[in-house]
Amino acid sequence: MEKKFVTKTGGCICGFVKFKVKLDELPRVFNCHCSDCRKKIGGMMSIIQLREEALDLDKNILKTFEHKGSSGNKIRKYFCGNCAAPVLTYVQKWDRYYLYAGLLDDISILKKAKNIFFEDSHFPFMEINEDKLKP
Ligand SMILES: [Zn+2]
Ligand SMILES: [Zn+2]
Repeated sequence: MEKKFVTKTGGCICGFVKFKVKLDELPRVFNCHCSDCRKKIGGMMSIIQLREEALDLDKNILKTFEHKGSSGNKIRKYFCGNCAAPVLTYVQKWDRYYLYAGLLDDISILKKAKNIFFEDSHFPFMEINEDKLKP
């Protein structure tokens, strides 16, 4: 069966970053509870795993910050230099880009998400009913 894609628009809060992105009908979304992500954006975050060439955006307009993940592999965060909105995360280990889900203008297609690093680090007020919490 052929994969179906949908094109969505998104951008940051100040309007400097605007993009189109090609997503699967049911995109792969991860809610990451790890302490790195928490420190980066101040809370739990949701990211969408992107296919190659899925994002129509010149990454050179974005500011970047690189750090080592707990496993030692490189993680590069792309964000708007004007309003500081997180846009992309690149994970070297998987050689993949992840889009911060909240930047989509229309989030209605994000119907499922997998919670990762929940057991390692999560806000105690957060309860999640999921059989398998570990990736
Ligand atoms: Zn994380
Ligand atoms: Zn911005």
